[in-house]
Amino acid sequence: MNVILMGPQGSGKGTQAGRIGPRLGLTQVATGELFRAAIAARTGLGRRIKDLYDRGDLVPDDLTIGLVEEKLDEIDRERDLGEGVGGALFDGFPRNREQAKALDAALARREQAITAVVRIDVPLAMLVARLAGRRVCKRCGAVYHVEFNPPRADGVCDRCGGEVVQREDDTAEAVTKRLEIYFKQTEPLLAYYEERGLVAAVDGDRPIEAVTEAIVAAITRHVPSANAAVSPTAGEQG
Ligand SMILES: [Zn+2]
Repeated sequence: MNVILMGPQGSGKGTQAGRIGPRLGLTQVATGELFRAAIAARTGLGRRIKDLYDRGDLVPDDLTIGLVEEKLDEIDRERDLGEGVGGALFDGFPRNREQAKALDAALARREQAITAVVRIDVPLAMLVARLAGRRVCKRCGAVYHVEFNPPRADGVCDRCGGEVVQREDDTAEAVTKRLEIYFKQTEPLLAYYEERGLVAAVDGDRPIEAVTEAIVAAITRHVPSANAAVSPTAGEQG
């Protein structure tokens, strides 16, 4: 079983991935984490990624796919060892159609396929409220929220007494712009999976527990009797 979790910043995607992975025996595959781990391990790929980071460049698709493939191999090994691993939970990957096709090809080589794509829906106004309410301590980096998690004293960090401020890229305008870009970029990606009937939408504007249950239910509905079955379109990318 291989599941993709999709949702914009502020949708609670990361939180949900952390809850659902252990529930369903899925290993979380977050590319940001993979990049950091590769850099720390100083592998060949890691060194190339560090060079890109240092120059402020984006990691190209082929490097990203390379790391994801290494992770898929690791998951397969763990599964073979009977460690209760049932597949991958992709979080923040794929980001575009090219990556999606490469992922399909990588899974097809392992006689696997994407089982379900879960889209976490949260109204734009709610996303903006969640993100634009974020405040950060200038001294220790502690994160607060004006509504959901305010510091005890206004503008003062509970932990270190430092000044708690709104970052420039967390203003309502900046957040709205970022979200609009996200929706524009993910639409073609969603269409790619919708063509194959893989997308399930979940209402993310609810308490964390309710969202988790809805996601688990959506994934379970999509699980075919034979998990390893390769979808008819999975192999078309050469
Ligand atoms: Zn602080």
